[in-house]
Amino acid sequence: MDETFLHGDLVRMLQGAIRRVQERHEDLSRLDSVGGDGDHGTTMMRAMGALEKAADAGPCIPGVLLRDAGWAILGIDGGATGPLFGMLFLGMSEALGDRMELGPADLAAAFEAGLASVQKRTKAKPGDKTMLDALVPAVEALRAAAAAGAGIPELLRCAAEAAERGAVSTQAMAARFGRARNVGEKSIGSQDPGATSVSLILRGFFEGIDSHG
Ligand code: ADP
Ligand code: MG
Repeated sequence: MDETFLHGDLVRMLQGAIRRVQERHEDLSRLDSVGGDGDHGTTMMRAMGALEKAADAGPCIPGVLLRDAGWAILGIDGGATGPLFGMLFLGMSEALGDRMELGPADLAAAFEAGLASVQKRTKAKPGDKTMLDALVPAVEALRAAAAAGAGIPELLRCAAEAAERGAVSTQAMAARFGRARNVGEKSIGSQDPGATSVSLILRGFFEGIDSHG
């Protein structure tokens, strides 16, 4: 798998993300207990459960699967992050429409549309210590890699690495959005849970694709 991407590749990509988040959900809740209410790992487990059901349900069109996944995530009791992740998947699905076979540019366009949907739900910008600190650089890296002619595994590798750097960069930030804004400066030194989830999901996407390349 290099130039084109099919429904089965998307399912493996989602399964990679589910595995990663399941492995690390306790860390996510621990990070959320610094400035928030300690439930982020639980919320992400619920979101991954919804994702797994959508992936298993078997609509064979990538955009339709992502749309079902987005609605399923919007339907969980998901605090602040559930709706944002739901919108990410819904936005991606809209960009893909009913195409069966996707290339690197399609995938990059899907991530851009997903980010735009998230940004309709929040005014948080990079630097505010939120999931956007991982998502924005990841989508920029994807766009740059696609423009440079990279194949899909390489695209996802670049996105995962950028998201990881973005998540680590939140350690130096004071929270300005979400519950953690109440502790502000006291959140400096600990990594934002939502940004960490984005980096885990993108690493999982890459692993899901790479292990079956
Ligand atoms: P809750 O605050 O409802 O308990 P979670 O604990 O699941 O939600 O998620 C917390 C994470 O959600 C934060 O680390 C941050 O990345 C993200 N987040 C919270 N509020 C916002 C917001 N308004 N905009 C962007 N991201 C946000
Ligand atoms: Mg929380």
